[in-house]
Amino acid sequence: MLAKMETALAEAVQDWLARFERALAEGDAPRLNALFHAQSYWRDLLALTWDIRTVCGAEAIVDQLKACAREAAPRGLELVPDRTPPRRVERAGAATIEAIFQFETAKGPGSGVLRLTPAARDAGDLRAWTLLTTLDGINGHEERVGRSRPTGQSYARDFRGPNWLDQRTAAAAYADRDPAVLVVGGGQAGLSIAARLNMLGVDTLVIDRWPRIGDNWRRRYHALTLHNQVHVNHLPYMPFPPGWPTYIPKDKLAGWLEAYVDSMEINYWPSTELVGGAYDEAEGRWSVALRRADGTTRGLRPRHVVLATGISGIPSLPDVPGLDNFAGTVQHSSQYGDGETWRGRSAIVIGTGNSGHDIAQDLYSSGAQVTLVQRSPTQIVNIEPSAQLPYALYDEGPSLEDCDLLAASFPLPLARKSHKALTAQARELDRVLLDGLERVGFRLDYGEDGTGWQFKYLTRGGGYYFNVGCSDLIVERKIRLVQYADITELVADGARLGSGETIPADLVVLATGYKGQEQLVARLFGDAVAARVGPIWGFGDGLELRNMFVRTAQPGLWFIAGSLAQCRIYSKHLALQIKACEAGMLPSTRHHPARDRTGASGSAPSH
Ligand SMILES: Cc1cc2nc3c(=O)[nH]c(=O)nc-3n(C[C@H](O)[C@H](O)[C@H](O)COP(=O)(O)OP(=O)(O)OC[C@H]3O[C@@H](n4cnc5c(N)ncnc54)[C@H](O)[C@@H]3O)c2cc1C
Repeated sequence: MLAKMETALAEAVQDWLARFERALAEGDAPRLNALFHAQSYWRDLLALTWDIRTVCGAEAIVDQLKACAREAAPRGLELVPDRTPPRRVERAGAATIEAIFQFETAKGPGSGVLRLTPAARDAGDLRAWTLLTTLDGINGHEERVGRSRPTGQSYARDFRGPNWLDQRTAAAAYADRDPAVLVVGGGQAGLSIAARLNMLGVDTLVIDRWPRIGDNWRRRYHALTLHNQVHVNHLPYMPFPPGWPTYIPKDKLAGWLEAYVDSMEINYWPSTELVGGAYDEAEGRWSVALRRADGTTRGLRPRHVVLATGISGIPSLPDVPGLDNFAGTVQHSSQYGDGETWRGRSAIVIGTGNSGHDIAQDLYSSGAQVTLVQRSPTQIVNIEPSAQLPYALYDEGPSLEDCDLLAASFPLPLARKSHKALTAQARELDRVLLDGLERVGFRLDYGEDGTGWQFKYLTRGGGYYFNVGCSDLIVERKIRLVQYADITELVADGARLGSGETIPADLVVLATGYKGQEQLVARLFGDAVAARVGPIWGFGDGLELRNMFVRTAQPGLWFIAGSLAQCRIYSKHLALQIKACEAGMLPSTRHHPARDRTGASGSAPSH
């Protein structure tokens, strides 16, 4: 019975794919149009456009498909026998048939996700509701894995020559050459892209200002464990061992990053900071200055710079009245160390995002008197089950590879709809906690249009807290809550309230976030480059994260950031684009620099 149903679904999908392929090859707009719902979505990850883009509505989809189909030449669209078969599922509140398929293009192999739903007037007329097309590789430049893996001949057959370690040491020293790609930041974003580039044979160096690989996690607060469950958090190529805990502790992850660098043969310079650089358009190379631990500066001339600096670029420090009068210690959350130092003393933590709550809880647990100051309404979500709801897909059974493809297949408008529903569900699940918080005066919110923390993260990188206990301490009044508006000023020994009371403090922690990446770009490469690139992260009026994982208006400048899952998924596409630039198949900018200089706009993708 099940097999019969699966066969029927497979036939329906294969029929759609065949009709789509024919209509596309013939450039037949009316027949293409009839394959899509009027309200439908096509997301392309490089396969047909060399771009990451979402197109809405049948007419626009058909226009854009026709514009790129001749050059991209998609063909051989078919279901993949060893991947998740077509299934009936519910997505964003709608019942749909969901299928993974594969195809070929002129550039290389691709895969995709198709979701079919019946036309309103004819249940037998299955039309595309969403379509994802994604490039998996570039012909002639395949990843060096499996049968294409390195043979090791170069160090195994000459007994007197350099062995593997000698070659690795020499490769990472860059004594007499420049890397093709400089990755700035050795967290999950930097390591994901470096591993992908290595597999494509692109010479890549990662630098990080911390002295030890993994310090970006190691130096965070004592009790930190990851917020997402382990099966969502794998890095590319090397999944975490199956016996690892559901929530990975920070030091365990830090150690894994060290092992990852070693295993994936990533060239990595710790204690090295990018202090600035300029792009030489004539040569198509950057000239960058790196400050090393011993105070010396090393120059490099990579063709590409990938900023993987996370949010840890430049702390945002608010203008708190009277801060200069405060006689105690003032720290930004990025400088906060160990709560033990503050045992038996008093602390004020300003900011109610994840960092503010976590630091407040760390201080409280270390025996400090803590006051948490709220500046703006904040979303609170219990770590379990509420914060895990968006990852239910990863528990449905398909392989990690299939889940990643499915996750990438949701166009922004449907993701918004799903997250609105999940936010409402979490609000019900967390009702007791949220009521308790409101009773002590905590101001709650649920994101723009009720879309919740996922969209807060994707648009502003914060504004929410996954409750691992601090909210309970606030409800129980073990951590005092004060509104920022009630503080008149900081004085030598604490914070003076409008009521006249002074809250004593030895420590003030500013858990007030970080400045946007635009400011880091301006600091590193100058205002002209920052202006040319424009806003980074968030969606603006568009349907894709701005400047993330794609060519930017600045030749040779790329960005990668986000959760472990985002870095795992999109590092692949970023690496393919850099490889294509290196192979001379793609200019390394979205805009022609000469046109930019004249101020003319040129938003057409160069492909
Ligand atoms: C408690 C907690 C739990 C979390 N749980 C999860 C989870 O389960 N899953 C998940 O996906 N995310 C989780 N996150 C969020 C997020 O993934 C991390 O914050 C992550 O560190 C972001 O990785 P990144 O590589 O983009 O940036 P970072 O880890 O911030 O790394 C950037 C690196 O760039 C370096 N750098 C910056 N500027 C320069 C420069 N000029 N020169 C040289 N180096 C530079 C920094 O030293 C830093 O090491 C969690 C965060 C917290 C705080």
